[in-house]
Amino acid sequence: MKIHLRQIPEGDTLHIEGEEDAAPLELELGGFKPTGPLAYELDAGQSGQGIFATGRLKCDGTLTCVNCLEEFPWTLAVDDFSTQVEIGNGESVDLTPSVREDMHLLLPAHPKCDHDGYRPCPARLTTDSGAAKQNPVPPSPVWDALSQITIKNT
Ligand SMILES: [Zn+2]
Repeated sequence: MKIHLRQIPEGDTLHIEGEEDAAPLELELGGFKPTGPLAYELDAGQSGQGIFATGRLKCDGTLTCVNCLEEFPWTLAVDDFSTQVEIGNGESVDLTPSVREDMHLLLPAHPKCDHDGYRPCPARLTTDSGAAKQNPVPPSPVWDALSQITIKNT
């Protein structure tokens, strides 16, 4: 997401909104699979040797529940995005690193599909009855057969 200096009116702010490919944000590394583009709505302006931008970011996708391991829909939304980027030598600044950082910070470390009442987590529902039903693993007859073979060979 690049902003060119010439796009910003002197002493004023530039309003930009649109959609971009979410792939450069590498949200998959945080367990989030985007199902749509990154939508943004930003106001950018010059301040000193840099460009500031404030606004909103949003990306639809899925997370994987830590309990039932099923994917569930999740919207990654930054409502109060705010960043300041130094201009450097070029005539444009790239907001992507800031956007990526902010969005990664919002990814839950332990996503749960029942986080906001979206649905009851299937794993949580079966935890109690499932634990009671579990039997200890019976001794396998395979080991008996193997030990007999060993005895025959010696
Ligand atoms: Zn779940």
